[in-house]
Amino acid sequence: MNFKKKLDLNGKKALVTGAARGIGRSCVEALCETGAFVTLSDINIDLLKSTYTDLKNKKFDVEMVKLDVTDSISLNNFTSKNDPYDILVCNAGIVNWVDAVDMTDECWNNLLNVNLSGVFRCCRAFGRKMIENGGGSIINIGSMSGIIVNTPQSQAHYNTSKAAVHQLTKSLAVEWAQSGVRVNSVAPTYIETDLLNQSPEVQKYIEKWKAQTPMKRLGQPGEVASVVQFLASEASSLITGSIINVDGGFTAV
Ligand code: NAP
Repeated sequence: MNFKKKLDLNGKKALVTGAARGIGRSCVEALCETGAFVTLSDINIDLLKSTYTDLKNKKFDVEMVKLDVTDSISLNNFTSKNDPYDILVCNAGIVNWVDAVDMTDECWNNLLNVNLSGVFRCCRAFGRKMIENGGGSIINIGSMSGIIVNTPQSQAHYNTSKAAVHQLTKSLAVEWAQSGVRVNSVAPTYIETDLLNQSPEVQKYIEKWKAQTPMKRLGQPGEVASVVQFLASEASSLITGSIINVDGGFTAV
């Protein structure tokens, strides 16, 4: 068995949602560095353009497209006009901190629409073509928030969305197992990205979060991206329906 070759993504085509920054951008870099041609997609067109330009200048093999994961019509148009992708990373997500008793329907629905329904829409649109093509690898970015309840902040809608992404991942993995399409999730701990800067309270919280973590630190985007790269590759050929914790031991205690 050639173990090095199994991690090689040369000749593979990947798309990452929410790729303009944070974990998504790091996934683009990891997939490109191991040989894939990667389409960056995001709703934030200005940041998407600047990230795309930066990566192009660094000789990464990328293209960009504006895609909003809440827009089924655009997603279906995009996949029907393009050749099948080999790899899909459903990364786009949002968070805010609101006590449940103060949470409006709009706040709840908006977050679930991006974090859960957005993942489903992308899996459906890209998965359909992967099935026709005989295979592919889908990686959904879940969270340890789908396993434990984060404290001290209140984010019932976010935690619920991520638990549902994990169950959606398992459901699609079983439904599509014989088609050659694998579906997995990664469940990161707190990762140092813009997403964490939700309120001025954040600095105080960071010390609490570190104390709660066996490794006593937050994660970096690249530590998630390298697991995504593994799940995208043939090195993980027997893995489907798995939720891989990338959490410094947080959910082990
Ligand atoms: P981030 O830095 O906020 O980046 C997310 C990107 O997604 C942004 O560019 C954002 O655009 C884009 N986006 C938002 N709504 C979108 C939509 N409807 N369609 C397409 N793109 C959209 O977030 P991150 O920290 O890298 O997180 C990425 C993923 O990891 C999320 O699913 C998150 O829940 C998950 N995660 C993060 C952490 C963490 O601690 N950071 C931990 C566990 C899991 P805008 O600039 O317009 O918002």
